[in-house]
Amino acid sequence: MKNIVLFGPPGAGKGTQSAKIIEKYDYLHLSTGDLLRAEREAGTELGLKAKEFMDQGALVPDEVVIGMIANKINANRQVNGIVFDGFPRTVAQAEALDQMLTENGLEIAKMIELEVIEDELVKRLLERGKTSGRADDQNEAVIRNRFKAYENETAPVADYYKAQNKYVALPGMGEIEIIFDYICREIEAC
Ligand code: AMP
Repeated sequence: MKNIVLFGPPGAGKGTQSAKIIEKYDYLHLSTGDLLRAEREAGTELGLKAKEFMDQGALVPDEVVIGMIANKINANRQVNGIVFDGFPRTVAQAEALDQMLTENGLEIAKMIELEVIEDELVKRLLERGKTSGRADDQNEAVIRNRFKAYENETAPVADYYKAQNKYVALPGMGEIEIIFDYICREIEAC
């Protein structure tokens, strides 16, 4: 089982590339953003709790997200691999993920970061907001908050995987297919 963390700021293309990876390799896609939005739509207690953070562009508390991911890993031990998209977003989440995987005899094979400049990210998110129905993609102040959360809380997660020699950065701008080819090379090399 090959487990990949797809990393990068909001709008870097993690969702787009995850969809291509799971189609090609038949992996499981675990996006904490998607899972949280599903909880909100279902009107669960967890979803209601997450809403106030998501609408402001802030991170949902670690224990909420970690519990949600633990359930998914436990329910999917027979898959070819997992693409983690939007998780881990804090060092505490990365540590919890390592612990969960180790308990199941598993590990992260690689973290792949998609690098995109901030002006392009804002452009992409506002464009996506026109059709995604996501309130957090439609308001520039919320988008800036999401970048702040990324810079302060999420960016240090790269160092966590660098220390384990599992980190690689790829250009996230340009043709989707070319970026995907780079990603495939990285997945197949580990
Ligand atoms: P995303 O779809 O990945 O852009 O996530 C949308 C929002 O969900 C984020 O702005 C956070 O409020 C929340 N979220 C998603 N994943 C996480 C995570 N791993 N930790 C904390 N909050 C998260």
